[in-house]
Amino acid sequence: MLSGRFAFGPTQVPLNRLHAFALRLDREEDLRVIEDTTHHRLSVYVVTDPQQIDIVARLGPDPLSPEFTLARFRHTLGRRSRTLKRLLTDQSAVAGIGNCFSDEILFEARLSPFALSTAIKPEETIRLYAATKKVLQDAILHLRALDRLPERKDRTFLRVHDRLDQPCPVCATSVKRVSFQESTLYYCPTCQTGGRELADLRFSKSLK
Ligand SMILES: [Zn+2]
Repeated sequence: MLSGRFAFGPTQVPLNRLHAFALRLDREEDLRVIEDTTHHRLSVYVVTDPQQIDIVARLGPDPLSPEFTLARFRHTLGRRSRTLKRLLTDQSAVAGIGNCFSDEILFEARLSPFALSTAIKPEETIRLYAATKKVLQDAILHLRALDRLPERKDRTFLRVHDRLDQPCPVCATSVKRVSFQESTLYYCPTCQTGGRELADLRFSKSLK
């Protein structure tokens, strides 16, 4: 759930407690899901059409598909008021963006994670839309160049996520974080929140 990843490996390597799932392939190889945190949450479906799976049928557009248009994104933002962080990680609004890349997208767009979706300016909407595509495209280019399935250590291109107290690559301000019960977001106070540091919300339920 938080750091799960796929890996190919020989079938004869025994499974251990980090393996949440293994799919045995014909060529003496497994496709395995490795999850090395305590937050294990995984579902497996066997269907003839992915649309038969409820959560797949409810997914929003893939941000790199033609369906993800500026007009549609604008409509999604305006549908109800919530923080940009929450909207970007809502799979029914936009598919496939998690905690890490939502941090990177908001940094690229120079917007606060707590800015409200219904209150941002038209030019900020355009910046957020463009940043969503750019950050994902750049990450794909970087990870494809590895020529193997990526691991956590390969995410060296991240600019704010998981970089607490390291200098922002744009303005050199120390990167800050806000912790919640199950996750942590990262941001640059100078580039994103007008120099204001955001309160630690570890003991509040979640961001609205
Ligand atoms: Zn900065």
